[in-house]
Amino acid sequence: MGAMTLSDWQAKLETGDLTSASLTEGCFTRMNALEPSLNAILHVNQALSLAAAEAADLRLRRGDRGPLLGIPIVVKDNINVTGMSLSQGSKISGDFRATYHATVIQRLLDAGAVPLAKANMDEFAMGSSGEYSAFGPTRNPWDLDRVPGGSSSGAVVAVSAGYAPLALGTDTGGSVRLPAGFCGVSALRPTYGVLSRYGVTAMASSLDQVGPVAVSAKDLATGLALMAGRDPLDSTSLELPRADQLTGLRAAPLKGLRIGLPKEYFGEGLSAGVRGVLETALGRLASEGAELVEVSLPHTRFAIDTYYLINTSEVSSNLSRFDGVRYGARNTSEGLHSMISSTRDEGFGPEAKRRILLGAFCLSKGYYEAFYLKALKVRTLIAQDFQKAFKNVDIIATPLSPTTAFPIGSKTASPLEMYLADVFTVTMALAALPALAVPAGFSDSLPVGLQLVGPSLSDVRLLEVGAAFQELTDHHLRQPPLDI
Ligand code: GLN
Repeated sequence: MGAMTLSDWQAKLETGDLTSASLTEGCFTRMNALEPSLNAILHVNQALSLAAAEAADLRLRRGDRGPLLGIPIVVKDNINVTGMSLSQGSKISGDFRATYHATVIQRLLDAGAVPLAKANMDEFAMGSSGEYSAFGPTRNPWDLDRVPGGSSSGAVVAVSAGYAPLALGTDTGGSVRLPAGFCGVSALRPTYGVLSRYGVTAMASSLDQVGPVAVSAKDLATGLALMAGRDPLDSTSLELPRADQLTGLRAAPLKGLRIGLPKEYFGEGLSAGVRGVLETALGRLASEGAELVEVSLPHTRFAIDTYYLINTSEVSSNLSRFDGVRYGARNTSEGLHSMISSTRDEGFGPEAKRRILLGAFCLSKGYYEAFYLKALKVRTLIAQDFQKAFKNVDIIATPLSPTTAFPIGSKTASPLEMYLADVFTVTMALAALPALAVPAGFSDSLPVGLQLVGPSLSDVRLLEVGAAFQELTDHHLRQPPLDI
């Protein structure tokens, strides 16, 4: 049996074969069986989930219909769902429970979605592998000895392992796309501003976006349709053009579509296995009439340095609010200064501390101009590279990662090596562009993802191209070999 798409789940409810309550209970059963191996979930509140499912059943019985009505969703643990945890994968959050819904959650719940669970993640969304959670690493469903990718590790694994057909993650520099590639599912980083961040824990505010994760591009579009739209509670949010065409998304015609292949992304360092899979995938698009055109994004070589200077600077500022005073864990040592410093010392893991220190250094007097300000200037050059390329091509295709999912523990000793795992995903975040991850095939039985990038606010078009690719292929419908 292939992976179940949103419409497969919906069909079960609409024919009356299943109620949302029984579907939700089935999800808990599957999760309980698989969690000892995968560790994708940090928190469940079954009473709350079942109450939402029963409310959806009532609506279904009254004849109400909707693509997410009664359907379970999994949410990364840095997005507020009232009454559920908001750990950010960190001990410093203590046993804090969210007291309000993020806007994206409110919109999905209004559509009848059932909040099933909060997902594991790299601490404060810092990481590329899913190993930097204070609650232990998440494992890749395709090979339990390998990482699922991060930082939205649990959200992606939840979809890959079939806990739920839709999950929400966040993407600051690749955090939904990289794990989607490693786990064989689809994920979208929308154009910066398309999804509200009200109620989402800030990591690096000029880069953070919420990103949906699902089996197919069509399902991502369905989720996006319900969540997009300006939110007065987030001043960076904006309207998505053509949003009315997300529901019932149509595949884009491929004939004459100009696909740019940036030479900097297909050079040395790309493993032969990944390269082979991507060549076949791109060849398939070309055989339908798409034109493959070489393009250049010359400032790509500065991407990792630029991203990590901006990211750590913003992290050091955003994480100052975790001080034991307002919420979360608190060390009760005598005196305000010692309470704050020991709370932070005990609460943050090593990667969070590393970034706070690096960022505080970048922003300090005398270094600000040399590091942070310079990085902002290079960021503009990176964005201009894309603008120039899009004069010639409709979309850009790149790998998501130089290799398939790597073994657990193989990069944790070297922070720099971990940072380099993001080499193909940070530029789109720096340039504020939409980027879509779609499964493209397999190398040594491990998934390989293809990344499609579009001009600003072309999210709908990008999903239409993703849907066209998925009409030609069935990689997204393959399921990992999990025995239960
Ligand atoms: N791996 C990148 C980082 O650690 C991206 C994280 C993210 O997108 N949240 O910063």
